[in-house]
Amino acid sequence: MGRTRVREALGSEPGGQSITVAGWVRTKRTGKNVVFLEVNDGSSLSNIQVVVDSENTNLGQTAELITTGASVRATGELVESMGKNQKVELHAAELELVGEAPGENYPLQKKRHSFEYLREIAHLRPRTNTFGAVARVRNYISFAIHRYFQERDFLYVHTPLITASDAEGAGELFQVTTLDLERLAREQSSGAGPDYTGDFFGRSAYLTVSGQLNAEIYASALDRVYTFGPTFRAENSNTTRHLSEFWMIEPEIAFCDIHCNMDLAEDFLKTIIAGVLTDCGEDMEFFDKRIEPGIIESLSAIADSTFTRISYSEAVEALQKSTVKFEFPVSWGVDLHSEHEKYLTEEVFHGPVIVTDYPKEIKAFYMRLNDDEKTVRGMDVLVPRLGEIIGGSQREDRLDVLQRRIKEMGLPEEDYWWYLDLRRFGSVPHSGFGLGLARFIQYCTGMANIRDVVPFPRTPGNAAF
Ligand code: ATP
Ligand code: MN
Repeated sequence: MGRTRVREALGSEPGGQSITVAGWVRTKRTGKNVVFLEVNDGSSLSNIQVVVDSENTNLGQTAELITTGASVRATGELVESMGKNQKVELHAAELELVGEAPGENYPLQKKRHSFEYLREIAHLRPRTNTFGAVARVRNYISFAIHRYFQERDFLYVHTPLITASDAEGAGELFQVTTLDLERLAREQSSGAGPDYTGDFFGRSAYLTVSGQLNAEIYASALDRVYTFGPTFRAENSNTTRHLSEFWMIEPEIAFCDIHCNMDLAEDFLKTIIAGVLTDCGEDMEFFDKRIEPGIIESLSAIADSTFTRISYSEAVEALQKSTVKFEFPVSWGVDLHSEHEKYLTEEVFHGPVIVTDYPKEIKAFYMRLNDDEKTVRGMDVLVPRLGEIIGGSQREDRLDVLQRRIKEMGLPEEDYWWYLDLRRFGSVPHSGFGLGLARFIQYCTGMANIRDVVPFPRTPGNAAF
């Protein structure tokens, strides 16, 4: 393409052949006979400084027209920089204004903008330091996750986005239909329920909340698999940790009990975190300096730590012993809230905690029932600052128990006939977990709001861009 990316240019020695860089102007400073342009092309956090001799009529006239936000192309030699911020700078022999950005209208002026404001200009926010860094870390983590599983002989399976079953049994589903909604409303008000036989799939259908049940099918044949794709939840939780659309990574492994599942989750998190620290150095330093001071140290500690493993009952006991006044009081049987999860990780165990054996009432129907008949082999991985980052379980592999659980939870058994078949024919103990990609990126970058680690967040009331 005849262009050098800014990252590569900044890592080069001064002198040598003339090169071309292209990108967007972050700032322009005008000196006596010279104009300095800070140009960024997204390849790194750092800009390249393009130095323009404004005495040169051609260059000077072009430089005059350039403003913050404009796109430019510059060709010249890399010269040792006098500035302390960079080793080299580019002395422009040619300068082209590719796309102007009329100054007064450009919404991204040099001053610091709030993340709330930047959400309203999601089409321009990737041009900021923060969102560029988040995009690069997100890219790195996605690739590292695939590499982690591929190197360990896991098979990537694509599970459908449109499903007929509610995998979590939680009823937080977006319905997919081609039915005439107005007619449907009339029918419903006249007492008759909607008739889905005329719907596109001949039955009611939804956007998936999890690929797990489909992944279990493949794990029951290919031993170890993972999914990595979008999921959708119509939960009305306006928190800093929930999205309506998010990507989930779900490994599923045959011949694997809850302990093997916990080992995998722990090794997986530590490996990816260690990789982020070594391979995203410049961006992580930025997050450490500007977003979450101390994050590099805390992530390094986690990469070297051993996760604490406790049962739900032990967690409840620890919480009840605490003198902290929680918004949601704790007693055996209640679901843990993020305030409890943070307390356990930050105040009690000072690091990640894996909680297992939750009351069956607060977990999904597919988790393996323990002999006490009260708890199930679920596991949540909790981390400081965030709370739950992974939810998983050993799956119920006994046909009769699974049928009983489906009935107890009031779910339609006929919808799960194929899921039950896996327990009829060659059933194996198997386990898996789900990691929300965005939540993990939030954790690694220290970004306070999950809306700022996905390019185009979907949340209740918001599907712009
Ligand atoms: P939470 O209690 O935080 O709502 P959950 O118990 O509903 O989580 P699971 O159903 O176990 O979560 O999903 C597995 C993982 O998916 C979670 O550990 C989390 O990383 C991620 N996750 C779940 N819901 C969301 C959401 N609405 N937005 C982003 N990530 C999510
Ligand atoms: Mn949830």
